[in-house]
Amino acid sequence: MNNQLDNLRDELDDVNIKLLELINERGRLVKELGDIKKAQGMKAYDPERERDMLNHIIDQHEGPFEYATIEHIFKQIFKAAKELQEEDYHKTLLVSREKKPNDTIVSIGDVHVGNSETQFVMGPCSVESYEQVDQVAQSVKNQGVNLLRGGAFKPRTSPYDFQGLGEEGLKILRDVGDKHGLKVVSEITHPQDIALGEHYLDMIQIGARNMQNFDLLKEAGKVDVPIILKRGMAATINEFLNAAEYIVSQGNANIILCERGIRTYETATRNTLDITAVPVLKRETHLPVMVDVTHSTGRRDLLLPAAKASLAIGADGVMAEVHPDPAVALSDSQQQMDIPTFESFIQQLKQPNVLAHD
Ligand code: PEP
Ligand code: MN
Repeated sequence: MNNQLDNLRDELDDVNIKLLELINERGRLVKELGDIKKAQGMKAYDPERERDMLNHIIDQHEGPFEYATIEHIFKQIFKAAKELQEEDYHKTLLVSREKKPNDTIVSIGDVHVGNSETQFVMGPCSVESYEQVDQVAQSVKNQGVNLLRGGAFKPRTSPYDFQGLGEEGLKILRDVGDKHGLKVVSEITHPQDIALGEHYLDMIQIGARNMQNFDLLKEAGKVDVPIILKRGMAATINEFLNAAEYIVSQGNANIILCERGIRTYETATRNTLDITAVPVLKRETHLPVMVDVTHSTGRRDLLLPAAKASLAIGADGVMAEVHPDPAVALSDSQQQMDIPTFESFIQQLKQPNVLAHD
């Protein structure tokens, strides 16, 4: 009896090995086919051919398995082989470390992001007037911050809320930036407006709500202006990386990734700052990573600790919002810093022992 069991087990082991050899043989054939298809510019996946193969198999099938089971097993085998075909020329993203092991340093004029120096992107949520941006810029300059932000096209939750000054806002930001020798950053929301961004800005921001606006990403990929791409509020890291890939694949490799919090069930903060996204992104990609502490926390009292945590965990920079009088700001009045708070925020972050506990 036991002898019979052992024999059957031996037979089963043999069959497993035969199956393994056959699956690998199939894989080699599919890879060879893939190379020919690639050379002829044909697509790797051909659903009609897959249907024919499945029909042929089902015709030959005699049991004991159900048809559906056989179909399922073969579909898995087809899928694995297809992945084998695609891996050579699709799977390795241009943004991945695998593709480019050394860090990308994004240069916004003479301001570099991604080397060992920490950079800050500071300024109001929205450009409201020349005087408002000018006041903030004066303080930003005094604090040795190089990058000035201000929204001109505002993606607001309510259509009745302030939508931004549009091109006029970009112009104000540019003029104020030039006056103080600051590089300027603002969000572009429409593919056709990328050209406006190219004209007025030193860096174009693509916001969380537009992280998967693929037409916008493609346009951003065609210009020679650095892009700061924010993580979508419900985007996985893989989706985030693929969004960046859309830009790089069109030719623009100057991208900074910005973690800005994701939506979870937690209501104590506006979003949940996914702090470990920073080292994950740094590991997976060669792109610089920043953290927006304003939109992630939505709380003024958490801006400094969140910024410290971001730097401690390896972020290349921090973004936050500053307004001369946050109480009357036309957007995000809850969480922007006033100028004295901003000054103490930067001074504390610039202290050599910044990461020590209070
Ligand atoms: C912003 O930075 O102005 C903004 C709207 O941020 P987010 O896209 O991250 O919400
Ligand atoms: Mn804002």
